[in-house]
Amino acid sequence: DVNGAAEGQRRRVAIIGAGLVGSLAALNFARMGNDVHLYEYREDIRTAELVQGRSINLALSQRGRKALAAVGLEEQVLATAIPMRGRMLHNVRGRTSIVLYDPCTKQCLYSVGRKQLNEVLLNACDAFPNISCHFEHKLTTANIREGQMQFKVAHEEQLISTSADLVVGCDGAFSSLRQQLVRTPGFNYSQEYIATGYLELCIPAKNGEFQMPPNYLHIWPRDSFMMIALPNQDKSFTVTLSMPFEVFAQLKTHQQLLDFFRQHYMDALPLIGEEQLIKDFFKTRPQHLLSVKCKPYHFADKALILGDAAHAMVPYYGQGMNAGMEDVTLLTSILNEQLPLDEALAKFTESRWQDAFAICDLAMYNYVEMRDLTKRLSFRCRKWLDTTLFRLFPRQWVPLYNSVSFSSMPYSQCIANRQWQDRLLHKTLSFSLLASCLVAGAIYARRLR
Ligand code: FAD
Repeated sequence: DVNGAAEGQRRRVAIIGAGLVGSLAALNFARMGNDVHLYEYREDIRTAELVQGRSINLALSQRGRKALAAVGLEEQVLATAIPMRGRMLHNVRGRTSIVLYDPCTKQCLYSVGRKQLNEVLLNACDAFPNISCHFEHKLTTANIREGQMQFKVAHEEQLISTSADLVVGCDGAFSSLRQQLVRTPGFNYSQEYIATGYLELCIPAKNGEFQMPPNYLHIWPRDSFMMIALPNQDKSFTVTLSMPFEVFAQLKTHQQLLDFFRQHYMDALPLIGEEQLIKDFFKTRPQHLLSVKCKPYHFADKALILGDAAHAMVPYYGQGMNAGMEDVTLLTSILNEQLPLDEALAKFTESRWQDAFAICDLAMYNYVEMRDLTKRLSFRCRKWLDTTLFRLFPRQWVPLYNSVSFSSMPYSQCIANRQWQDRLLHKTLSFSLLASCLVAGAIYARRLR
């Protein structure tokens, strides 16, 4: 039980947001014996006809899998997930090449449907008598000192008021609970919008089959912009086009759009279909991408933020959800230490912020890697070197991507590890160059003599 409940007191925990992190957090608080209330602004996605929201599918990796395994849901989720063993790169002429994620231990990413995953988590919540779900409840204000909250409920005129011992904000990148924390002294906050937006397109199934090899994350790197595609259960691909807003703005007419695709994505155009492309492209505006760093994640023993509410990041490392789920793993292990709750929450902030900042930075870096570096010979040489050294020294030489996606190494440690590897390679290279020069010099001098 969360501290205090051992003395027979069940804490009333209000979780704001029944997305991927909120529903997972609800399961963990319920398993500890608390009285959990899960409030969600939208209607129940299991019964909603049209689910609006970002990215239809997501890459699930080690950290998310571990958190799902802890609540007994990993197998169920993986049963419908599609393994992606590496990146399939598409060049401008439509030629493809493969860069495996992990040729040594053969680990892979899994493409999972956001809706399916959320449904699995919400169904699991239903099995707990101590979880009550309140859909169409939007948190409007909160007094975190008192644990008081007000919600706007769909079809109701009056706001409803309620209270909790602990309020947990899992309400995403634009978190309302975080807005309350911003007002508390000592709360540091920064956000950064990038100049790139994204838009989702679709490569549909053809004759009931995938139109491209399904077990890869497809990338069309094009320097300052790129497109990626992840496979779906129904044999379609969700395609995400990421470009600077100014490039989006230049594509005003159907003809401009088709010319642009013929020039940059010639192999993808027939797969998407010209008509469908025009329809999907002009249907919505490109979405903004936000990176958020803040600290602390808690206020006394009253409030806490997790997931995107605490550390929204650009989506280019495929770690936002995985990191949010890892928050829950860490929090649960700290709560199980039975410290007083304020100490436990403070320990959570202290143990997490450096890693959350690190993954926000890594996600920014990976955008450059995906749209630009993957095409370069130097990137491929480094990848080959990393893979060879990883094969020879699997414990000592874990490449950055593998440590982030296929291990639970703290994110800040992943960066430190990479810096150490860079330094060693740099020294080795410099030493080899120097040695070669000396040998060449010696041979030359001998010949002169
Ligand atoms: P959210 O998923 O945003 O859920 C927040 C919930 O809170 C929502 O249901 C919302 O309706 C509700 N809510 C909001 N405000 C209120 C309120 N006031 N009252 C009540 N409820 C409220 N991550 C990965 O790990 N892998 C990927 O491959 C990946 N791909 C991505 C691709 C794109 C294009 C984007 C944009 C993100 C991607 N992410 C990925 C990141 C991932 O989507 C997020 O990190 C993840 O959804 C965060 O989960 P969350 O529960 O914290 O927040």
